[in-house]
Amino acid sequence: MAKALLVINAGSSSIKFSVFALPPDDGDLQLLCRGVQENIGEENPHFKAFDQAGRKLDDIRPTPLSGAYRKAGADHRRRVSDTPSAASDGEVYDHQAALRDLLDWLDQKPELPEIVAAGHRVVHGGKEFSDPQRLTPELLARLEAFIPLAPLHQPHNLAGIRALTAVRPELPQVGCFDTAFHVGQPEVARLFALPKVYRQEGVQRYGFHGLSYEYIAGALTQKLGTPATGRVVVAHLGNGASMCAMRDGQSVATTMGFTAVEGLPMGTRSGSLDPGVVLYLLERHGMGVRDLNNLLYKQSGLLGLSGVSNDMRELLASPEPDAKLAIDYFTYRIARELGSLAAALGGLDALVFTGGIGENAAAVREQVCARSTWLGVSLDPTANAEGRTQISQPASRVTVWVLPTNEELIIARHTRQLVLEH
Ligand code: ADP
Repeated sequence: MAKALLVINAGSSSIKFSVFALPPDDGDLQLLCRGVQENIGEENPHFKAFDQAGRKLDDIRPTPLSGAYRKAGADHRRRVSDTPSAASDGEVYDHQAALRDLLDWLDQKPELPEIVAAGHRVVHGGKEFSDPQRLTPELLARLEAFIPLAPLHQPHNLAGIRALTAVRPELPQVGCFDTAFHVGQPEVARLFALPKVYRQEGVQRYGFHGLSYEYIAGALTQKLGTPATGRVVVAHLGNGASMCAMRDGQSVATTMGFTAVEGLPMGTRSGSLDPGVVLYLLERHGMGVRDLNNLLYKQSGLLGLSGVSNDMRELLASPEPDAKLAIDYFTYRIARELGSLAAALGGLDALVFTGGIGENAAAVREQVCARSTWLGVSLDPTANAEGRTQISQPASRVTVWVLPTNEELIIARHTRQLVLEH
């Protein structure tokens, strides 16, 4: 009987999912469908699913459930066209309710094969975990220790795992870490110049977006026909944004550090900041941890600079001078980090753009490349405007690429390997 893997990326108020068919032989996994449950824990939960070609399969407004309602087996779903009445009875539609509904939805699709294992994105694996892990209650307890290192992501990732365990305790589950790809970096790339006692308790640079970089390293090998040779910098530019220097497909340095707020400015995150600014805000503005978290993670970056939006599409379309300023700062910082990462690599052979902005915003790629000609980057403007895979001039010393990332496929591959091939 045909079998499939479920991939879960659980955030604070959303759960993204993908289902991959397991081929009968050792061929690659095939995407069957994907989707998202949004507004979990909020007033108006919303479930959307798409097939492998991106065509909408379903669009549902689940209602909050009481156990009794569910046990009665009543149909708790209503179509979007129905009048929404979510949360009217004060019930919270939480991660567990969302995952139970997702599994019900999958069960009700006769064309979808049976789910035999699930893989989760887990943002932080600390210093300990450099490989995907089979999830057990003991492992979950150890991953909880990393919550202070990634307070905005880790608790929700773990909530997704716990919720799925509660609904399907027998289902094998695997955790794949966003930090893992960077574990082999040289020691100097991992340090902060703080007294040793802090390093010993784990205050060091970890780096994130590792699942994306792992996918790109593999895709680049395919494109170049050789192992992702030489010195490559990958710019993962989405709402979260970071860059990674790779030599022969291995991470050598990256812009995010102890947390996912370091490095590039992002949609709403500040990126690197003089720590003196934090001291000033503490002292002069009487800010507490919560205020600072909110400022640095939610109010800064492109949104803070522009005062317009955190969304690159809106900034590119905006006539506001501060929208242009935000884009200028973004591309300036990317180009500066590119110089820094090229220094860590001792040169540069290839530059790769990925993530929602990297894959789609030709104007951003153009600005970054224009600021990087000194490194040997020579952009082909037509190829860039058309969004071709290779966007550098044939004679460019540094080749430049646009490669769509696929973190879910990496999670699915690891899950298959750990659960089904061992
Ligand atoms: P996340 O980090 O949430 O996964 P994504 O990788 O989906 O984020 O990237 C989201 C960003 O990509 C947003 O700033 C969005 O405006 C930008 N983006 C998506 N499509 C386009 C486009 N066609 N042109 C410019 N920017 C785009």
